[in-house]
Amino acid sequence: LPDPAANLREAQRLMVLLNPQSGRGQAMQLFTAHVQNMLIEAGVPYTLVITDRRNHAREVVRKADLRQWDALVIMSGDGLLFEVINGLMEREDWREAVRTPLGILPGGSGNALAASVHHYSQAPPAWGEELLLSCGFLLCKGLVSPLDLVSVQLPSRRLFSFLSLAWGFVADVDLDSERYRTVGAVRFLLGTLLRLASLRVYRGRLAFLPLEAEPEAPPTPRTARRWARARPTDHAQERPSFCSNPASALRCGSAPSASPSPSASPSPSPNNNRSERRRGRVPSNRNAKTNNQTDNQTNQQTDHQNQNHTHAPPGPSPASNPAPNPTPSPAPDPAPRGPLLDPLLPPLGRPLPDSWRRVEQQDFVLVLAMFQSHLSEELWAAPGAAPDDGLIHLFYVGAGVSRAALLRLFLAMERGAHLECGVPHLVYERVRALRLEPLSPQGTITVDGELVGPGPLQAQVHPGLARLVCG
Ligand code: ADP
Ligand code: MG
Repeated sequence: LPDPAANLREAQRLMVLLNPQSGRGQAMQLFTAHVQNMLIEAGVPYTLVITDRRNHAREVVRKADLRQWDALVIMSGDGLLFEVINGLMEREDWREAVRTPLGILPGGSGNALAASVHHYSQAPPAWGEELLLSCGFLLCKGLVSPLDLVSVQLPSRRLFSFLSLAWGFVADVDLDSERYRTVGAVRFLLGTLLRLASLRVYRGRLAFLPLEAEPEAPPTPRTARRWARARPTDHAQERPSFCSNPASALRCGSAPSASPSPSASPSPSPNNNRSERRRGRVPSNRNAKTNNQTDNQTNQQTDHQNQNHTHAPPGPSPASNPAPNPTPSPAPDPAPRGPLLDPLLPPLGRPLPDSWRRVEQQDFVLVLAMFQSHLSEELWAAPGAAPDDGLIHLFYVGAGVSRAALLRLFLAMERGAHLECGVPHLVYERVRALRLEPLSPQGTITVDGELVGPGPLQAQVHPGLARLVCG
């Protein structure tokens, strides 16, 4: 019998959102030089959307008909993905929308998620263009994993984070170093050295819900997913591939940066079978035609998208509230419908339950909550982190730490060895939720490297809420 969803599926492809200003302003050249041909060879059709201002990507994904796209891919730094995730969460159909697989290609100066994704593939460390090639390769493979998101409540709004929350030293370095963005990733090293020279203490209250204090709960969606993933027969459901030509994807594996990984093997697997089925439906010349777009055609597509969206808030328009996707969902979503609540968080300003732990000291040099392994291409800040571990990896350094010790700590972080480098001021906790109430005026808070204000704030992790293209 003909598959009624086949036509729809053939129309699916990648939307690559590229910020031409990210990093040293070379994202477009990097994409053309290193990624474009890889996608064409792998038979992965894509459409390029070049952002022309801050929040452009956010508006595009808020309005997009997501049935057209297998994945949203960000070619920029972490800031553009932050926009995209928050744009998806602003949609009326956010629960389906945020299940759209998200891919990352490092084009910015802060490429922490790209470094994390590369790290999860168990490849040896890579930087710069080598990291880009690796992420391009993983994108062609098209395996999808659950991705935790952290809901961050501020007094007047809520936002969603995939990477980090920082206050004090790290946040100030991130913001100070903006002015050196022309030097690329080195900007963080420069910023760190400058901030070390004028080390500050930040006063505030920090509390968290430790992992062990979690109330016994019935199986959560995360538990179900984890269990399901362990079963080989469910593997294809949890980690589908959108690569329509696995053989080409494997050819990409011979690119210099591509590291051999067990999942790249051509041996039969549910995932490969799925790709094979899909390949049978897609005429072989179709992808080439799609990808042979000239720059003009690409720009036309970009313009077309620009015309299609307005500045009106998301409402029940066809674009922002599409009909249910008739394609079988690759990962069953067991979560209930309705607004996403933060059940671990009492209202901001209200007392915390006894199960929370309050940090006694109130003078900090830094507070850093990590949701992925890497804070930047060079900083392996949370060695134990996984994209869907359901954890906030909370680090803080109390006042009194010497400049030399802090420098030692950041140098050790390149090897993920900072917890073993003998700095007693550094504390590490695995938590589900946290609250931070700054008491001194100095010090800003960043979420995923973006400034969100002086606080107070609180946050809780939502395990596996989104999905990440990840090796
Ligand atoms: P980088 O790592 O280089 O900072 P990001 O992806 O974090 O790269 O992008 C930085 C900021 O640039 C983001 O907050 C995003 O909103 C903004 N942005 C996106 N497109 C553009 C554009 N065309 N011009 C200027 N800023 C942009
Ligand atoms: Mg950035």
